[in-house]
Amino acid sequence: MPLISGTQVAEKVLAECHRDIAALKARGVTPGLAVVLVGDDPASRAYVRSKDKKCRDLGLHSVKLELPATTSQAELLEVVAKLNADPAIHGILVQSPPPKQIDEAAIVRAIDPAKDVDGFHPVNVAKLALEDPTGFVPCTPLGCQRLLIEAGIETKGAHAVVIGRSMIVGKPMAMLLMAKGPGGDATVTVAHSRTRDLAAITRQADIIIAAIGRPYFVKAEHVKEGAVVIDVGINRVEAPDTEKGYKLVGDVAFDEVAPKCRAITPVPGGVGPMTIAMLMANTVKACKQSLQ
Ligand code: NAD
Repeated sequence: MPLISGTQVAEKVLAECHRDIAALKARGVTPGLAVVLVGDDPASRAYVRSKDKKCRDLGLHSVKLELPATTSQAELLEVVAKLNADPAIHGILVQSPPPKQIDEAAIVRAIDPAKDVDGFHPVNVAKLALEDPTGFVPCTPLGCQRLLIEAGIETKGAHAVVIGRSMIVGKPMAMLLMAKGPGGDATVTVAHSRTRDLAAITRQADIIIAAIGRPYFVKAEHVKEGAVVIDVGINRVEAPDTEKGYKLVGDVAFDEVAPKCRAITPVPGGVGPMTIAMLMANTVKACKQSLQ
């Protein structure tokens, strides 16, 4: 069973970004990404730090704005408006989840769609549905599709089952897989928490994308022999024998599923590194499009 290494593919994506950034700098433009964090959630803080570091490693202009947990909706909207107007910033991301006084959907709608590198703005959701290549696609499903392409997995005519229907992963993943072209042209089934007899459906899949948020949820009984499995899940489970006392595992029970697979992504080292690489790629794309 070959492993699909997200770490390796992410390196390739970042090398492409690096080349594009050098070419843009030669034209006098540096792609810029602003990441806004409201509050002090430790996991969000860690994500924001790693995004900022990745930007700097690549030579992107990185702006990290850390706002207090008491920030009001109006104050945050003002920050977004300033970033929308700032020509040095090509991509804007407001780290989720914000504190409860913030209406996240309204913030997403306030971001200039041309700078919405997360791909959550309704304009970009529509562009994905319309297969308009100028839109921004959410980074995690975009990374999953790139993994399939790089691993040489034929999606055309394949039956892909996406488990999960979130706006961040499941729904855009399904749209990407059913779109025309490389990494698309699949016959797509979307399963979710109300799906009856899930295993009977997933056992028909040539490709399973698991985005559920439950550790070890997809078992051997869910997977047919020779299927390809992309595990999006990142779940913290207790591991008393480790230094931290916990470890990160996917939504797939890797040990029992992997032997049945034609290919599978590990956790960690699968979809995770792709998400941040595609964020960088989306920022470079936003910068290029701003010059047209
Ligand atoms: P979510 O909670 O928004 O959505 C989970 C989906 O799973 C829902 O649509 C729900 O219908 C479905 N589901 C729940 N129980 C189910 C069941 N019993 N049977 C079938 N479907 C069921 O989560 P999300 O934001 O889409 O994230 C999913 C997972 O992916 C999480 O583990 C998250 O941490 C991970 N994630 C990873 C990355 C990454 O970079 N690798 C990025 C985003 C999310």
